[in-house]
Amino acid sequence: MKLALFNGHRAGIVDGDHIVDVTDLLPAASPAGAWSDWLAVYGDFTGVAALDQERQPRLPLAEVALDAPLPRPGKLIAAPVNYVDHQVEMSEQKTIAEYGVFLKATSSILRPAGTVRLPYSDKRTDQEGELGIVIGRTATNIARGEALSHVAGYTGVIDISVRSTEDRSTRKSFDTFTPIGPWIVTPDEVGDPDALQLDCWVGDQHRQSVSTAEMIFDVAQLVAYASGVMTLWPGDVIASGTPAGVGSLSDGDQIVLEIERIGRLAVGVSATGAIPYAHRPLPNQAVR
Ligand code: MN
Repeated sequence: MKLALFNGHRAGIVDGDHIVDVTDLLPAASPAGAWSDWLAVYGDFTGVAALDQERQPRLPLAEVALDAPLPRPGKLIAAPVNYVDHQVEMSEQKTIAEYGVFLKATSSILRPAGTVRLPYSDKRTDQEGELGIVIGRTATNIARGEALSHVAGYTGVIDISVRSTEDRSTRKSFDTFTPIGPWIVTPDEVGDPDALQLDCWVGDQHRQSVSTAEMIFDVAQLVAYASGVMTLWPGDVIASGTPAGVGSLSDGDQIVLEIERIGRLAVGVSATGAIPYAHRPLPNQAVR
């Protein structure tokens, strides 16, 4: 199943080139969205198949505006340096094995077809195409072998990153810096999450192309590791790291992330409102 939010957090099941609006079959959603609420109760999406979709509105997918499928997850966890080719391109001495995971602000989430806003006019800001893991069941210090049974689905994540000296949580947490989508795909449709082709384009440049088989920590290891640091809650999202091919973004760019069996996530880029890096707010010197 493919589970989406659309037209202002309505809940939909994607069926080919249509979407079935099942909002009226679900309880009123919290700001975390219907699918996050569903996971908090059920832990996976198997029961969604039993919803009686027969009489629900069926809309052409091309005519709806998709929202982020998880607009406000409890946590947005991310993996630094989880592909060797990206380690090499960044001249990194360390990998995820040394860095562990980090957190992005959940307020950085952006809907499909949204616009990434570049904060600085003169500081390199990159796209990072990544496989997103959606947690279904609460997980605390679980073993690798138990990890995939705690995963409710997968999605696409673009981890936008300023190449500056601040901590990752600062330079990757600006508003609009985490496009997510286009929807959540359940594990039965994804198959082996460690064998998915991932491609990312910026304009006509095909910048990233990799199999998730190349990840240093595979999906199960990443979930198990993260659960050993912090309790994972239903609806939490883990961005699993980016391969080689990150590169700078400019005003007017279009970023497209395509992951096999998951789908295509496209967003724009704008430099409107960008300021020189040297003018960034400093303590007690807020720029207005
Ligand atoms: Mn990343």
